[in-house]
Amino acid sequence: MLESYAAGRWFRADDDGEPLPDAVTGAEVARLSSRGLDLRAMVDHARTVGGPAVRDLTFHQRAAMLKELAKLLMAEKEGFYALSARTGATRRDSGVDIDGGFGTLFSYAGKGVRELPDDTIVLDGGVERLGRGGTFLGQHLHTSRPGVAVQINAFNFPVWGMLEKLAPAFLAGLPSIVKPAAQTAYLTEAVVRRVIESGVLPEGALQLLSGSPRGLLDELGEQDFVGFTGSAHTAGVLRAHPSVVRGGTRLGVEADSLNCSILGPDVTPDDPEFDLFVTGVVTEMTVKAGQKCTAIRRAIVPEALSGAVVDALTARLAEVTVGDPAVEDVDMGPLASLDQRREVREAVAALRGSAEVVFGDPERVTVLDADAERGAFLSPILLEAAAGAPEPHDVEPFGPVSTVLTYSSLDDAIALAARGRGSLVGSLVTHDPQVARAVTIGLAPWHGRVLVLDRTAAAESTGHGSPLPVLVHGGPGRAGGGEELGGVRGVLHLMQRTAVQGSPDMLTAITGRWTPGSHRRVEDTHPFRKSLTDLRVGDSTTSAPRRVTRADIAHFADFTGDTFYAHTDPRAAAENPLFGGIVAHGYLVVSLAAGLFVDPAPGPVLANFGVDDLRFRTPVKVDDTIAVALTVKQITPRANADHGEVRWDAVVTNQAGEPVATYDVLTLVAKSWPRGAGV
Ligand code: NAP
Repeated sequence: MLESYAAGRWFRADDDGEPLPDAVTGAEVARLSSRGLDLRAMVDHARTVGGPAVRDLTFHQRAAMLKELAKLLMAEKEGFYALSARTGATRRDSGVDIDGGFGTLFSYAGKGVRELPDDTIVLDGGVERLGRGGTFLGQHLHTSRPGVAVQINAFNFPVWGMLEKLAPAFLAGLPSIVKPAAQTAYLTEAVVRRVIESGVLPEGALQLLSGSPRGLLDELGEQDFVGFTGSAHTAGVLRAHPSVVRGGTRLGVEADSLNCSILGPDVTPDDPEFDLFVTGVVTEMTVKAGQKCTAIRRAIVPEALSGAVVDALTARLAEVTVGDPAVEDVDMGPLASLDQRREVREAVAALRGSAEVVFGDPERVTVLDADAERGAFLSPILLEAAAGAPEPHDVEPFGPVSTVLTYSSLDDAIALAARGRGSLVGSLVTHDPQVARAVTIGLAPWHGRVLVLDRTAAAESTGHGSPLPVLVHGGPGRAGGGEELGGVRGVLHLMQRTAVQGSPDMLTAITGRWTPGSHRRVEDTHPFRKSLTDLRVGDSTTSAPRRVTRADIAHFADFTGDTFYAHTDPRAAAENPLFGGIVAHGYLVVSLAAGLFVDPAPGPVLANFGVDDLRFRTPVKVDDTIAVALTVKQITPRANADHGEVRWDAVVTNQAGEPVATYDVLTLVAKSWPRGAGV
C-alpha cells in the first residue's frame, strides 16, 4: 500500500485500495488509497509549518537545498530506474523522466544562486519617479505568498512532473502538496520517501497525497496555487471548482496539446533537414511510447513531399522494436496501462474518420520478451489525413500515434498549425531564414515554444519534445494557458508582484537596496577601506572635482586609438547635431571617474567585475569639470567564499550638477580585512 506523507508523518489507508498494475506484465506493483487521510490537516500543516520554514530561508539557502537534494537523488537513481521500468519506460524514457527531473533541480539550484538575490524578496524593474522632487517613488517587488502549492500531475512523468513544479515552488517560498496520478504513483512515492528521509527540506515543505484528491481544493483559498498537468477534461472540472471560481485560488493548467512539426517548403529529400524531420517525428512517436504532452501529433508537410515523407517514416517505424522496456534491444515499451491503450485505440478509431492508417495495426503488435496482451503494448501508428480532415486537429491520441497532413502554402501551414487551438510546442524544419521568420511569427501566438531546426542546430538540438528548465513550458488555448519553468520566470510566476510607493529612504529600508535620493552616509573613512562586514548600504564618497582638458581628450584618443571625429576633429564635431564641438569620450569620463573615486592602496576591495546600466547622459565638453558620487547600493555576501559582491551607484556630474554618466559599479569585496581576520 502506497503511503501519503501528511502533516509530518507517513499515513497508510486502512482499506485494500486499488491495485496499480505493472505496465509490462499486468502484475500488481502496489495498491493505492488515501481513505481516512485528513486533507485539511495537510493544508494547515503546509500553511503553518512548511510555509514559514521555507520563507525564513533566503533564495540562496533554498537553492542550496535543491542542489543537495539533486545530488543525493542522482546518486541513487538506479533504484528509481528499476521502478520506472514497471511504468513501461525504457532506459531512454526513464532518463527523460528521472535524469530530466534531477537536472531540473540542478538547473533551479544554479538559477536561484545566480539570478535571485540572497534575500527573501525580489525587485522587479527599476525605481519609478512619481513626483518632480524625487521624494515620492515607486518600486515593484515580488514577495512569497503565505499559501500552499498543490501540484496535481499526469501519469507520464512521475518524477520530472513532480520536480519541475516543486523546484520553482520551493524557490518561491511555497510549500508543496504533491498529488501524483494513480497509475505511476509508486515511482513518485519512492522519490518523495527519499527526499523526506534525507531531511534536506524543512518539515512541511513537501507533502505527498497518494490517492484521491477529492475535497482537497475545498480547503484552498486566495493565497494558494494549484498547478495541474493532465487532460483537458479534468482541467475543466478544476476550472469550475468554487475555490477557483469564487475563492481566488490560482490555477495553472498544462493540458493536452496537438503539437505539430512543419517541414519547410525549401527542403528536398536530399537535404539533411529531411532526415531531421523524419527522425524528429519517429522519436516523438516512440519516446515514452508517445505518452508525452509535447509529442508530435501532426506532421505537416508540403503536398509534393507527402509521399516521400510517408515512405521515410514508414521505413523508420518498421525498425522500431516494441517489447519489455528492461530488454536492451527494445526501443519502445508499453503504454502506462491497459486503460490507456483502450483510450488510444478509441482515439485512432476517431482519427480514421478522415485519415488512413499507413503504418501499424492498433489491434496487433509483435513484442519482444513480453506478452502483448497482458502488457499495454501498442504498435506505433502513422496515419495520413485527407485534405481538410477535422479529427487530427481535435483528437489527442496519447500514445505512439502521429498523422501526416499536407499544406499548399506557408499561410496554409500556419493555418493548419493554428487549428490545434493552442499547443505546447511547434517545430519547423527548414534551412531558409525567410521561411523561419514567416512561420515562427505565424506559430508563436499559438505556441509556448517553437523549435526551428536545421543542419546547424541539429548536433546540439535538444529536440522537439524536451521541455527545458530554462525555457518556458506551457501553451495557450487548448494547451491550458499555463506557464511553467522558464528559469526564474517560473519562480516569480508563483510570487505576488506588488507596486510599493514611498519616499527614497522608505524604499531603501524595505528593499535593502539603496534607492537614489535616499540618505547617503559620508564618513571620514573611504568605503573602499571597509570590509564587507563593515560596509553598509548607503555608505558613500564624493570625489574632488577634475577638469577635462583638450589635452586629456587628445591623449585618450591617441592612446586608445579611438580617434572618432567628435573627439579629434573640431570642425566635424561642430557640425554634429548632438555635440556642437569636441567632446570627451564616454569611456574617458568613466575612466576618469574611476581615478576620482578609487582609494588605491591594497584593501578589502579585491576586483571590479563590471558595470551595469551605463548611460552617458550629457556630453562632457572641453574644460568641463566632473566629479563622481559613489554609494553602496547592494551588498551580497557569497556563501562558501571569503568575499561578496558590492554594487555601487555611480553618478558622474558636471560643474552645473547635471549627471553626465550614471551606472552601477560591480566589485568583489573581502568579508574581512586583513583577509581572514575576525571571520
Ligand atoms: P487526467 O486524467 O486529467 O489526470 C491528471 C491528474 O489529475 C491525475 O493526478 C488525476 O488523479 C488528477 N485528477 C483527476 N480527476 C481529478 C479531480 N476531479 N480533481 C483533482 N484531480 C484530479 O490526465 P491523465 O490521463 O493522467 O494524463 C494524460 C493527459 O495529460 C494527456 O491529455 C496529456 O496531454 C496531458 N499532459 C499534459 C502535460 C503538459 O505539460 N501540458 C504533460 C503530461 C500530460 P488520478 O490519477 O488519481 O485520477
